Amino acid sequence: MTSKDLILSTARQFLAYVNKAPSPYHAVEEIKSKLVAAGFRELRDTDQWQVKPKDKCFVTKNQSTIIAFAVGGQFKPGNGFSIVGAHTDSPCLKVKPVSKVNKSGYNLVGVECYGGGIWHTWFDRDLTIAGRVLVKAGKSIEHRLVNISRPILRVPHVAIHLQRDHNEKFSPNKETNICPVLSTEVQSQLGKPVGETADTDKSTPTQADKHQPLLVKLLCDELKVEPEQLMDFDLHLADTQPAAIGGALEEFIFSPRLDNLLNAYTAAVGLVNSCSNTSLDSDPTIRMISLFDNEEVGSQSAQGAGSSFQEYVLRRLSSGGSQTAFEEAIPKSYMISADQAHALHPNYSEKHEGNHQPGLHKGIVVKINSNQRYASTAITNTILREIGRIADVPLQDFVVRNDVACGSTIGPIMSAKLGMATVDIGAPQLSMHSIREMCCTTSVLQSQTLYQAFFEHYPEVFSSLKF
Ligand SMILES: [Zn+2]
Repeated sequence: MTSKDLILSTARQFLAYVNKAPSPYHAVEEIKSKLVAAGFRELRDTDQWQVKPKDKCFVTKNQSTIIAFAVGGQFKPGNGFSIVGAHTDSPCLKVKPVSKVNKSGYNLVGVECYGGGIWHTWFDRDLTIAGRVLVKAGKSIEHRLVNISRPILRVPHVAIHLQRDHNEKFSPNKETNICPVLSTEVQSQLGKPVGETADTDKSTPTQADKHQPLLVKLLCDELKVEPEQLMDFDLHLADTQPAAIGGALEEFIFSPRLDNLLNAYTAAVGLVNSCSNTSLDSDPTIRMISLFDNEEVGSQSAQGAGSSFQEYVLRRLSSGGSQTAFEEAIPKSYMISADQAHALHPNYSEKHEGNHQPGLHKGIVVKINSNQRYASTAITNTILREIGRIADVPLQDFVVRNDVACGSTIGPIMSAKLGMATVDIGAPQLSMHSIREMCCTTSVLQSQTLYQAFFEHYPEVFSSLKF
């Protein structure tokens, strides 16, 4: 296989993943199946864990966050952790708790704006619904995933004839202008059984009463349940257009959710691949990926990177040694916080400072910010550069202009909470937080190669530090 073939086939495997992951629940479910196929076993955080060297396990939280790890053959409590952290969520529209809106002869679905999306990109897209539903089944309550595989919703633009300044200042109101259309009342009345009334007079409305009957029917048909069985749900809107390889030279990826499923996926592949050779046998550390929900809204949730979930897992895996095994492990540990980076934009090149202009195909971006919006330091950058050299993956530097606001990610949050050495990195991309983003095919192979090399070589790089 030539290197171009390898880049393309690796990128296509990522596209298959992202197309099956329209919500964080699906993103985690797909990672789970990959891990299980690679011999990882599921642990429950309610159980006592029996974990020994060379075990490969994972644990989930809220079905939208997952921590997976492979225990080095030479691990003992008090030894360090090599972690790649990323996030499973992306900005999107989410169905409101009571979403039934009827207006101007249309049946609409009320939505909340989750995270900092470029919301005008959600107009005129063929949208569907995906997420998780809690279903009552006899005395049990089940957690089910749902993904309706056809376009059922649309946020239509207003015609330019009715708003002449459209191209100068299109700035939709997030409450009133972004309400997707599900159907017309004319057509939905036609399909109704005789005698059925639109609203029933009940003191406690059921889930089915809070949403468009058509939407409830679509969900129930998909899940093969009755409306009374729906307890609650978290439903995300998603574009039905599959991710694609693009550009005249097949060098781009046009896709939703590159931020940050590219890193969630490549971290998992990097971990799995690092366990497919004998390097784990002699590893004194635990190799780990931590993929968190809710980064796009600040990480402050039970399943977010700002929670104690990561610490609890590390403490459990450090138990059985000295009383301070966990505290001894932290300074031996290192985390790569992996989240997408801003590539230089040809039409907005003034947004980047002259010496820091990451380009597509030019390598993984190391993100630095002295105001600590990123956790990278000279020490953590040096460790990464050593890993990059070993893996033959080029690295680029990024610092934001002083007159432009800097983004942030899970790196500084987790680094501060755990006191753990952390580097913030990511693959370069354009259109971040659009419904359809853009990056280069090279990124996928470079990211997974870098993460695999990190897991295999961190112990030797760490032991080369003489201070
Ligand atoms: Zn991100």
